[in-house]
Amino acid sequence: MRTRSAIFYAAKQPISVEDVELQDPQAGEVLVRVAATGACHSDYHAIDGHIKASTVPLVMGHEAAGVVEGVGQGVTAFAPGDHVVFAIRPMCGTCKYCSSNRWNLCDGIKAERGFMVDGTTRFKKLDGTVLHHGLATFSQHTVVPEWNLVKVQNDVPIEILASIGCAVVTGVGAVVNTAQVKQGSTVAVWGCGGVGLNVIQGAVIAGASKIIAIDVAESKFPFAKQFGATDTVDASKNDPVQAVIDLTNGGADYTFEVIGKPPTLRQAFDATCAGGTACMVGVPPSGGEVAVPMEMLFRDRRLIGSSAGTGSPRVDFPWFIELYRQGRLKLDELQSKFRPLEEINEAFEDMLSGEVARTIVTP
Ligand SMILES: [Zn+2]
Ligand SMILES: [Zn+2]
Repeated sequence: MRTRSAIFYAAKQPISVEDVELQDPQAGEVLVRVAATGACHSDYHAIDGHIKASTVPLVMGHEAAGVVEGVGQGVTAFAPGDHVVFAIRPMCGTCKYCSSNRWNLCDGIKAERGFMVDGTTRFKKLDGTVLHHGLATFSQHTVVPEWNLVKVQNDVPIEILASIGCAVVTGVGAVVNTAQVKQGSTVAVWGCGGVGLNVIQGAVIAGASKIIAIDVAESKFPFAKQFGATDTVDASKNDPVQAVIDLTNGGADYTFEVIGKPPTLRQAFDATCAGGTACMVGVPPSGGEVAVPMEMLFRDRRLIGSSAGTGSPRVDFPWFIELYRQGRLKLDELQSKFRPLEEINEAFEDMLSGEVARTIVTP
């Protein structure tokens, strides 16, 4: 079928929106009409060269929700009309991780970029050029393996669910699943973008006593406060480590680094109290390394990583929707701006400006 997609050709170049050819879903695959897809920093990491982009040209996008329009052979869990949220990691169901409830670490899919089982792609340019892709949600339609989808309730507007699959599960999941923040503890968060705001609201859900939001852009602080931050630290003007130590009487119980840079990860570690946990949530740069003082580790500190919020999408996504219904998870506030697919580049500019919580593209 003919559809319209946003294509990435090279770092530091605008993304191009073009008509493309999309193949029918093969065995085990599902055709989805994308209703909403988030402009997420992890796509931007490839655009700005922070991480090495995989094969190009590439149909980008991974944070999305949509409606099933067709299924390939053997698919029984989904039917046309189902509302689905995309899970950013595959869930093959049979590897060692899937078998031990560590869905976020699934390594059962060997294909390039981990999506199509046979390593082929479903998108082509109209001149026949092969387009590489993962979930390819910067597109009016996409075809993905059924294990990348989670069926959700049809009675919540599909447009507001896009961020559940990436920003929400990554942020809230890092707090409740990975670090397992205890009630009454103190939390500090480096980076107040879409994921950082979800670390903040995850800390509220976990019952944290103090939630310190740290950023170099003052424009992010009204969002941080709206999502539950009790204190803010402008790291462009103050030493965030000392500020957190002062605000918590000796260091935070839990710190989260949501930027993906060695210096800020080191700050997050240095700002923990003895017995505290520093959790890396940000996407690390290719080859990035961090060194920490062994004497600090010797005081029961932990430095841990969180991958896709250590989430079990089929359990967590319905839970997030329930929290939203109860008014305990902010989704409307998170999707602060909507744009058509043609404005995909402007959506990333919104993200960089710090003036939106999340821009959602509605293809
Ligand atoms: Zn993302
Ligand atoms: Zn697996």
